[in-house]
Amino acid sequence: MAVVSLVRSKITDESKIEEMVRTVLEPLGGVEGFVSKGDRVVLKPNLVTNRKYFTGATTDPLIVLALIHELKRIGVSDITVADGSWVGCPTERAFTATGLSGLCAREGVKLVNLQRDEYVSVKVSAGNELKGKVNIAKTVLDADKLINLPKLKAHAQTKLTLSLKNLKGCISDDEKRRFHRIDIDRAIAELNTVLSPDLIVLDGIVGEMTAELGCDPIRLDTIVAGTDPVALDALCATMMGYDPHEIEHIVHAEELGVGKGLDTSKIELKGDVELASIKGEIGDSVGFARYTESFQSYGLDIQESGACSSCLAALYLALKRVADDEKLEDLQGCSFYIGQNFAEDSDGSATPAGEGGSAYRIGIGNCTKALDGLDIFTKGCPPTALTVYRKLRRKF
Ligand code: SF4
Repeated sequence: MAVVSLVRSKITDESKIEEMVRTVLEPLGGVEGFVSKGDRVVLKPNLVTNRKYFTGATTDPLIVLALIHELKRIGVSDITVADGSWVGCPTERAFTATGLSGLCAREGVKLVNLQRDEYVSVKVSAGNELKGKVNIAKTVLDADKLINLPKLKAHAQTKLTLSLKNLKGCISDDEKRRFHRIDIDRAIAELNTVLSPDLIVLDGIVGEMTAELGCDPIRLDTIVAGTDPVALDALCATMMGYDPHEIEHIVHAEELGVGKGLDTSKIELKGDVELASIKGEIGDSVGFARYTESFQSYGLDIQESGACSSCLAALYLALKRVADDEKLEDLQGCSFYIGQNFAEDSDGSATPAGEGGSAYRIGIGNCTKALDGLDIFTKGCPPTALTVYRKLRRKF
């Protein structure tokens, strides 16, 4: 039976998070249960973009610091913090914004940008979505121990991003784009068959309940730990109001033997935490659907096909700003095209804009450049939210 450990505590000062990390790891045998003194250890936080932890987008650096201190306590000296941000955000910006550049320098640990790492083509035997191989950062593959430090977040395309999805930061930008052209949930599950963290410590200090962007944070003062990513993600999904069977990458991961826990009644829960109370605080309104529904209610037609998360984020943040300006009505009837599947084909032709699109057509990102009859085109791979917003202002 998979064990998942939870701790929840009012955070009075910075040292409290270190205490919480020690407490959450205790039922699992402490960090020493997973790591030996001579190991080369990689810590993999979620640094998806250049936003601070309290926005809900990125892992709290104090959790990273707590793990560094725990590892040092047992004599580990070869520690690396590593991640690659989403397409379009240089990871160095996330290192600076989150404070990890300074923190790692002070602690004398390595900080590696996985967007610029060497990549190794790894054979994938399980499933068929990745067509048998995936390019993974060498820094991660060379580690003796991998500790996954994901964030408790909703996600625009996969509903949630927890421990299974966090490993997408270990692949190249080209692979990230490929994941968005294929079935992303199956791809995530298959990636997890070849990359298995030894320990997961999930940051639920501040979660994000709309998407991965960090615009709808909620303070929960919770840390979750375990070794089975399926069980841990399933439990967190339940906490966020989902039946884990609704989260496809968790379902596929269990099918491929990554872990067990879709049936959360079979998870052994450690820690004196009332799951129902956390669930109550989160409420029912989790997920990206409420955004799309609100835009659709204004008659906006969003045709997404193979869009990268960063591109979608730019569009939705721009639309959110339009909504704040109370101008969404002015975009009524517009069709938005976004995603790699609108890119020019190798024969020079572009995928035609979908049937039923409106007369006013807006292309988001370089992939839509070759679409016929666009009234507005927003350049960039991805464009920034500000670029999109400024272009949309032509309509009001
Ligand atoms: S323009 Fe295309 S490739 Fe670039 S971020 Fe957007 S969807 Fe991805």
